Amino acid sequence: MSWKDQLKNGLRSADDLDPSVPAEVARAFKVRAPRPYLDLIDPTDPNDPIAAQVIPDARELDFRPEELEDPIGDAAKSPVPRLTHRYPDRVLLYPTYQCAVYCRHCFRKEAINDGNRGFSRAALTTALAYVGAHPEVREVILTGGDPLLLTDDQLAWLRAEIEAIPHVRLLRVHTRIPVVLPDRVTPGLVAALDGRLTVVIVAHFNHPREITASAASAARALRKGGYVLMNQAVLLRGINDSADVLEDLCRELVYSLGMIPYYLHHCDLTRGLSHLRVPIEEGLAIVGALRGRLSGVCQPTYVLDLPGGGGKIPLGPSYVEGREAHRWLFRSWEGAVVPYVEVLSADLPVVGGSSQGQGGGG
Ligand SMILES: *Cc1c(COP(=O)(O)O)cnc(C)c1O
Ligand code: SF4
Repeated sequence: MSWKDQLKNGLRSADDLDPSVPAEVARAFKVRAPRPYLDLIDPTDPNDPIAAQVIPDARELDFRPEELEDPIGDAAKSPVPRLTHRYPDRVLLYPTYQCAVYCRHCFRKEAINDGNRGFSRAALTTALAYVGAHPEVREVILTGGDPLLLTDDQLAWLRAEIEAIPHVRLLRVHTRIPVVLPDRVTPGLVAALDGRLTVVIVAHFNHPREITASAASAARALRKGGYVLMNQAVLLRGINDSADVLEDLCRELVYSLGMIPYYLHHCDLTRGLSHLRVPIEEGLAIVGALRGRLSGVCQPTYVLDLPGGGGKIPLGPSYVEGREAHRWLFRSWEGAVVPYVEVLSADLPVVGGSSQGQGGGG
């Protein structure tokens, strides 16, 4: 089956859902999943981690007052349509708001469900002009929506427009295609991204069962194309909220896909996701356990995106247990508290005072 047929033969809309899913739940947010991803579901498991990412759940309608339509301030920091500029050196560009899969946990769910905004050259003109007029922008991040749902020609056009802006050095492509529709990674797609810019592809694998032979072929093709591969996962209740699952995921990302775990995201304050959120305290304990189990290459950074566009906060855990001038107390990966004395030139003043349990956390 070609990737286009895999899309057609998958879950295309709420109409394709099992009638046991109540209509108001099925119609609340978009529904879509390609055939190969659906085939990973174990129908005998009521808590299947793949199904939980794509089949609507009644709890998605449970909106809490503290939850937000624009949870991380994408719109608040958008100077022109289809672009977010939060950090000086990098921008997000949204070539399309459509995806091959509509994830139940999507942090940008409301923007994705706002109409059916797809790709057009005209829609991106102002955003590209904005990047051209801002020499401080070195990285352009294609996100969305899923940028790899564009045709090869659209992608090649966009890549060429971006690389014609001389101050841009890095093209980042944030995509779930390698996870949910790996056969879309064709030679034409690999060629479409090839040009002057260094390219980093950031995928979104959440569970080790998503790492299939097809995903491995796609990853190999992208690496052979010369692209750097990274992953961002989201910490999700019932899907990957255990050190065992995340250990397995991070190892296989590196060992099977040659993909470096980049971020483990704390679930944002998107509306209707409270059933998927893991307490921060628990998240810190999980990443603390990973520190002792995984090599540095396999370690993701646990981050939280502040509401309102405040940006990302690395959550730790902290390994600083205390400090007295140049004498620091660190907690080792085995849990021992170990003193470390800084040895510096005699005339260097002590910066910072004493503290206890600075940073704290898991
Ligand atoms: C997350 C994010 C980025 C990318 O940040 P990195 O830490 O470089 O991955 C850029 N812009 C916005 C608006 C973001 O939310
Ligand atoms: S692929 Fe990404 S943007 Fe699309 S629904 Fe999933 S998380 Fe959201």
